Order: sequence, then C-alpha cells, then structure tokens
Amino acid sequence: MNSILITGCNRGLGLGLVKALNKLPVPPQHLFTTCRNLEQATDLRNLAKEHSNIHIVEIDLKNFDEYDRLINRIAEVTNDCGLNVLFNNAGIAPKSVRLGATRHQDLVDTLQTNTVVPVMLTKACLPLLKKASEVNADECMSVKRAAIINMSSVLGSIKSNTDGGLLPYRASKAALNAITKSMSIDLAPQKILCVSIHPGWVRTDMGGSNAPLDVSTSTTQIIETICQLNESHNGGFYQYDGAELPW
Ligand code: NDP
Repeated sequence: MNSILITGCNRGLGLGLVKALNKLPVPPQHLFTTCRNLEQATDLRNLAKEHSNIHIVEIDLKNFDEYDRLINRIAEVTNDCGLNVLFNNAGIAPKSVRLGATRHQDLVDTLQTNTVVPVMLTKACLPLLKKASEVNADECMSVKRAAIINMSSVLGSIKSNTDGGLLPYRASKAALNAITKSMSIDLAPQKILCVSIHPGWVRTDMGGSNAPLDVSTSTTQIIETICQLNESHNGGFYQYDGAELPW
C-alpha cells in the first residue's frame, strides 16, 4: 500500500500499527496518523522524527467540521494518488458493565466514537479511496488498491456473547460490524474492500494489564492479515491472526 490513514495513533494499538507498518520490508510511502493532543503524543512525535513517511494530524474525530482539514492534508500529500487504506482504530470503552450501572451518556458517547465516527470519516475519505481504487485498477481488491479496515471487537459478536453486560461497548461494535457488512456490499462495485478486525485482547490502557497479548504481537499480525486480504474476504470479520469470527 502506498498510503494509509490510521486514527488514534498516540498510544495503544494505533501506535503499534504505525510501528508495525514501518517494520515492513516496504513501508507505506505515506502513513497518516491522528491524535487528539499533539503535545502529549510524545511517542508518535518521536517516531515521526525517525520516519519521514509519518504525517501527524491533530484532530478530535468527534469534530466532524474538521474532517475537511484532514482530507485536504491527505490530498495535498498524496498528490492525485488517493488513499489506499482507511484504518478506523480510535475507540473508547466505558467502565459500566451491567444494565443497572449503564449511564445514558456512556451509551451516547460510545456509539458516537465507535460507530458514528467511523461512518462519517469513511464518508469523508470516500473520494480519496475511490481515487486510489481507480489509480490502482490493475490490482485486485486488496490494501494495495483500496480498503476500509474497521477495528471492531469480539465483544461486538452477537453469536459469541455468552457473558452479557458491556451494553454500550458491545452495541457500538455490533453496529460497526453491521456497517462493515453494508459498506462491503455498497463499495464492492468500486472495488473498495471493507472488513472488521478484532485485535485480540491486548495490553493497552483499554485492554488492561491482564490481557494475554502485547501490542507488538497483535499489531504485527494485524498488518500481516490485512496485507493478505482479497475479494474473498470482503465483508468479513477476522481476528488479528486472520481467523474468521462469527457475527
Ligand atoms: P486505547 O484506549 O489504548 O487507545 C484509544 C485510542 O483512541 C487513543 O489514541 C485515543 O486518543 C483514541 N480516541 C478515542 N476517542 C477519540 C476521539 N474522539 N478522537 C480521536 N481519537 C480518539 O485503546 P486500544 O488501543 O486498546 O484500542 C484501539 C481500538 O481497538 C479500539 O477501537 C478498541 O475498541 C479496539 N479493541 C481493543 C482491544 C484491546 O484488548 N485493547 C480489544 C478489542 C478491540 P486519546 O489518547 O486522545 O484518548
């Protein structure tokens, strides 16, 4: 892939994805990353000093009015080649577990960040994704042509839900999965691939210290997995190592 936009790159899996991409034999030519607070994004800024392909855009993705600024920056840098991959990674997980502890604001905020943001950002990126698909028309459906990768969670799988609870988070990721499926159908004519990915249970601020996977293991395998995606994977739900998950 020549270009990729990843959201939420100042820590956790987003930062890990940036590192994993730059360890590829041929890293992307342009790696657009977002963070909410540039001053606090020390690790990301240090990485950008070492790797000139990293572009950092400071944005709170709930500020939809600022998407034009992000898109214009990508268009300017990619210079008519479009954007190969949008990786909707940024997300939140409120602490509320059971129905009795679920607050209205948790539901609204979680759906806004985990579901509404990926849709609106994908909509904003669509002209750039279409452009990349046209420019790379000799490639089959893949991240080399154009793709949308939605960071989901197995907690969004309705079939795998045996524990209940986590209402806002599960609902937000189940909805994101439904959106992945629809986008995969709607954008197939333009040869833009769309999948949901579960990163595994990973030791980040969100995943906590008891998680079995470290960031590097998860993100290295996510990159391997997405680099192997083709038309047969379009509209699917996969975990970090490529295994298919039930909706
Ligand atoms: P972290 O909490 O470590 O990082 C979340 C990232 O999302 C941060 O960069 C955060 O920015 C960013 N973010 C949150 N809200 C916004 C916003 N409104 N605008 C811009 N950026 C925002 O989480 P992880 O790295 O663990 O999770 C990344 C993704 O993986 C999420 O979608 C999560 O649901 C998913 N996931 C994680 C699992 C795990 O075990 N860790 C398991 C399954 C799925 P800031 O630093 O400014 O808050």
